[in-house]
Amino acid sequence: MNETARVLNGIEIASAIKAEVGEQVRDLRMAGITPGLAVVLVGHVAASEIYVRSKVKACAELGMHSEMHTPPETVTTEEMLELISTLNQRDEIDGILVQLPLPKQVDTRRLLEAVSPDKDVDGFHPINAGRLQSGQPALEPCTPAGIMEILRRSSIPVAGKHAVVVGRSDIVGKPIAMMLLNASATVTVCHSKTVDLPHYTRDADLLVAAIGRPGFVTPEMVKPGATLIDVGINRLTEKADVDRFFPGDATRAKQFADRGSTLVGDIDPGAFARSGAYTPVPGGVGALTIAMLMHNTAKAARARRGR
Ligand code: NDP
Repeated sequence: MNETARVLNGIEIASAIKAEVGEQVRDLRMAGITPGLAVVLVGHVAASEIYVRSKVKACAELGMHSEMHTPPETVTTEEMLELISTLNQRDEIDGILVQLPLPKQVDTRRLLEAVSPDKDVDGFHPINAGRLQSGQPALEPCTPAGIMEILRRSSIPVAGKHAVVVGRSDIVGKPIAMMLLNASATVTVCHSKTVDLPHYTRDADLLVAAIGRPGFVTPEMVKPGATLIDVGINRLTEKADVDRFFPGDATRAKQFADRGSTLVGDIDPGAFARSGAYTPVPGGVGALTIAMLMHNTAKAARARRGR
């Protein structure tokens, strides 16, 4: 048991990144350029609305222009393509973000591919995925890019280490695996068809869990001293689960009593004590996502406007 496991504080790292982006925005504005982000939010999904509002607020704090487009729930793919095309053409818009999920009738893939790769601040366009894979400068997906920032700014060594990524989604698992490979880790990617998952996770110097299942990675699945990166965000609404994952934790018990829920990642918090360092949930990886979106918007503005 390692009682000195280091907490990798995503909130602190996010505010350092935002401060740097703020500086970049100031420089751009001195040159008469205000970076601009357009957010497209379809319909009324409460969670998406909260998330989009925080993105707009972050833009305002850093001196960027932002605008929201809110087509109705009944919007068609053609109408959405038209909106994207207009935003692609507007020079003062540097970043376009389409908040997912979209209603069923909208062809999400077609839409994401319609966003100009130079304005693709979510890093979801196949051109950016290809650039990432071939090690060229790219707009990178925010969550995995945030993980790399956590590792870099916390001086966690990556080169030569065995990194095991559990999850292979296009937005987290695959891009983080590619980034870790580009940073010279030896990378193993696991998924729901992996046979004997603990065999791989127990050998990981660096374990990234992006699964979407509360506390899925148990303490026995972790190598003592490993770095644990917990991407999962799962809401616990049953008291028995809160007691199981956070035994004797008065803060969590109070939070649950007050709000009726609390968050847990994909790693059982009981595993953190075995680790060398870990990202908490909340306050770890999730805290970086908006900062990285701001970073990408400023980066897109600099690249597009020849700076
Ligand atoms: P997806 O559902 O797209 O992918 C989940 C992955 O986990 C899949 O590759 C799946 O494998 C794998 N998986 C599922 N069950 C198992 C299992 N039993 N054993 C091994 N692998 C399994 O999820 P996302 O990548 O979008 O998100 C993952 C988590 O991260 C979620 O909790 C999400 O909320 C969170 N998240 C957090 C963000 C943040 O800002 N912190 C941003 C984005 C996501 P297969 O491919 O075989 O089905």
